[in-house]
Amino acid sequence: MDFPQDVTLEKALKLLSVHPRPAIKSETIALDDALGRIVTSDVTSAIDVPQTDAAAVDGYAIFHDDFEHGSLPVSPAIKAGHPFQGDVKRGLAYRIFTGAPMPKDANGNGPDSIAMQEHCTIDDNGQVILPPNLRRGANYRPQGENIAKGDVAIAQGTRLGPSEIGLLAAIGTRQIDVARRLTVTIFSMGDEIAEAGSEQGFDRGKIHDSNRPMLKQLLRLDGHEVIDGGIIPDDRDALTAAFGQAAKNSDVILSSGGSSEGDEDHARQAILDNSGGAVDFWRLALKPGRPMLAGRIDNVPVFAVPGNPVAAFVCYRLLVAPILAWRQGQPLTLALSFPAPSHFSQSHRKGRTEYLRARLTPKGIVLNGKPGAGVLTSLTGADGLVEIPSDHDNVIEGDLLNFYPLRESAL
Ligand code: AMP
Ligand code: MG
Repeated sequence: MDFPQDVTLEKALKLLSVHPRPAIKSETIALDDALGRIVTSDVTSAIDVPQTDAAAVDGYAIFHDDFEHGSLPVSPAIKAGHPFQGDVKRGLAYRIFTGAPMPKDANGNGPDSIAMQEHCTIDDNGQVILPPNLRRGANYRPQGENIAKGDVAIAQGTRLGPSEIGLLAAIGTRQIDVARRLTVTIFSMGDEIAEAGSEQGFDRGKIHDSNRPMLKQLLRLDGHEVIDGGIIPDDRDALTAAFGQAAKNSDVILSSGGSSEGDEDHARQAILDNSGGAVDFWRLALKPGRPMLAGRIDNVPVFAVPGNPVAAFVCYRLLVAPILAWRQGQPLTLALSFPAPSHFSQSHRKGRTEYLRARLTPKGIVLNGKPGAGVLTSLTGADGLVEIPSDHDNVIEGDLLNFYPLRESAL
């Protein structure tokens, strides 16, 4: 077995990212359809946003040099969407509403400060009395404050979330070039695995397939296209054929189960039995997730995640997802995490990095559900994973540990 074994997560990511990325295929789609997609070239703004100096509040725009006048006559109101048409001159307070362009004369000069209406009063003559201490430049948004014409709004390799789509809309984007979705063929493996809800042959020796439905949705959330390869029995030849076929018609293969070292674990051999098959590493120094296997068939990556559902989930999130994102043009990064104090204690054996399902509370991180690589109920309701580093002693309350959120990241 001349491939690396029992590697750390960092090493595994490194081993998988030495292979050249395939050329990224791009397609042009409507911005409205671009959630979760990865941009294939820098998007430069053709305009300043905002396009003019604009009011940030409802109030009165003045030349700050007029400030000592105390009270000033008031112009007709300048409303958002309706630039001021008259002469712009000193000695007047311009009634203005949020979002309206600041009045400018032909040379681009005009009021430079806005007093909020809540801070102003109108005297008996209908003149506005300005508040003391109005700061020069107060309460307006300078032209190009958001983004200036010619600046890169969204860089190549960025995954589009709601805020990126908002910014692209703000600069006037209707269509955008994004990486084509990766097609991922997904298999479940095992003689005991039955389709969820199938009555036929479902007896006490069987279990419903939970990995395929779960992994399918993880892939979809990450913007990939799933080809459902179904359930493969514990049969070396059947799996070899299934992998070989999938390598021909998809960009990536993701299977669960059968990646361990039992007599009925055929994933490793099924990769190698295919021409062009190679193993990149086998087994991760990680709990849960030890039997993880990765290889390729003709440069189509094959990720054989462990059958235990929590292990399958953890391996997908921490290893497969970053590699798939990288293969679509994103930088290779570890999953997002941040340190937080533990509000639990837990024994830990050194040597493997452990990921437990957890929730974030005001007191710190608490564990969610029962331990065990097969206990899916520990993932449901979890906010994230808590990492116990391989060289960490038993966890005691108050230890700072890395927390990996499972939701709300990069919104
Ligand atoms: P394996 O990795 O094949 O040794 O499987 C490890 C454990 O995960 C066994 O208890 C399997 O029954 C279970 N398992 C494997 N595949 C699935 C699946 N698709 N859905 C739910 N459990 C599974
Ligand atoms: Mg099995």
